[in-house]
Amino acid sequence: MTAPRGVVVLGATGSIGRSTLNVMARHPDRFRVVALTAGRRAAELDRLASRWNPDYVVLADSGGRGPARDWPGEWRYGTEAMRMAAADPESPTVVNALVGFAGLESTLASLEAGKRLALANKESLVVGGDLVLEAARTGGGEIVPVDSEHSAIMQCLCQRPTSEVNRVILTASGGPFRDLSRAEFGSIRPEDALAHPTWSMGQKITVDSATLANKALEVIEAHLLFGFDFDQIEVVVHPASIVHSMVEFRDGSTMAQLGHPTMEVPILYALSGPERLENQFRAFDPVESGPLEFERLRHEDFPMFDLGVAAGRVGGTAPAVYNAANEVAVAAFLENRIGFTGIPTVVEHALSAIPPSPIGSLEDLVQVDAEARVCAAERVGTPSPARGDRFP
Ligand code: NAD
Ligand code: MG
Repeated sequence: MTAPRGVVVLGATGSIGRSTLNVMARHPDRFRVVALTAGRRAAELDRLASRWNPDYVVLADSGGRGPARDWPGEWRYGTEAMRMAAADPESPTVVNALVGFAGLESTLASLEAGKRLALANKESLVVGGDLVLEAARTGGGEIVPVDSEHSAIMQCLCQRPTSEVNRVILTASGGPFRDLSRAEFGSIRPEDALAHPTWSMGQKITVDSATLANKALEVIEAHLLFGFDFDQIEVVVHPASIVHSMVEFRDGSTMAQLGHPTMEVPILYALSGPERLENQFRAFDPVESGPLEFERLRHEDFPMFDLGVAAGRVGGTAPAVYNAANEVAVAAFLENRIGFTGIPTVVEHALSAIPPSPIGSLEDLVQVDAEARVCAAERVGTPSPARGDRFP
């Protein structure tokens, strides 16, 4: 019997991080936790460490040192320790479940170190673009998507070349405001946006799902992961979130991947694929489920979608500006400083104020990210949030 594969879980205290640990718990013979990281939730990380007994844990917030903890193991702190965890030689697999731009350095470090990168942190791929793909090429790393739509596409492709594909159809739940008239958008409160109809997720992606920014990020993610042209990527609203995406081949056959909405399935596949391991899941019953319904996306009412796809088509630093301004706008919305319709206003402002340029290096991205944050914060009317000063 082979030894269990080492896995580093970045963002272990989050929604994807905790689901990853649940999935791994069912296969102790296959996976071993090498390291767990969190932003600043030291007490939660401590509890997870007691349960999982990793080699060490990392708290990204170096100011987070606290009193004696339950878990006697090794605590490391700060961004350099995060980078080292992402490249840990003990672990061939890294799960990046960080949120936002903060995940970029870990994505690059793990790919440069030749890891299998189970990538939930789509923002890092979208922002880093060719820089991330180049890191995978030179380091020998492999990006395996955790995002359910991209996992579906990978499974439907079944390792056929993309030259055999006409188009892919990404499904979108449509979020909580799918049926709300635009006139009512003014009264949307953060708690309304956080009540997602089908998925239970962290706050940032839940708001991104409500604005459809998440779907724009996913279009760019599909373009970068599989090499499809933007014109080959379509989005359709599918409120039940049963069909996770579809691939139409040139011979007229369309493959779809189905299942009840739980991230545990794509997470397990990202860890084990193409092998399929035992899992606990709610069986899909085609008769019980009733009709599978699809609708057009309301582009005019959800401008974050078109803004994001346009930034993806422009390329270079444009997706980084879109992402940074969105992160600032979502935080401002959650703190009741702007309304729901203020989010695209802030992002549009940053995109028109900062001209796109090619990405030469990580430093270019760090700089443009900071610039876009300042620009967005000015539009919101608050002091600029420094990069990484939010450790949820
Ligand atoms: P979350 O907010 O629940 O968890 C984020 C994790 O990252 C936490 O452990 C937090 O401590 C850590 N973190 C946050 N900021 C940090 C920082 N600056 N430095 C270091 N650590 C930091 O988020 P989530 O919902 O689990 O989402 C994680 C990623 O997965 C996102 O990119 C999201 O878009 C993607 N994703 C999530 C889901 C889902 O179901 N939750 C589905 C698909 C994709
Ligand atoms: Mg998704």
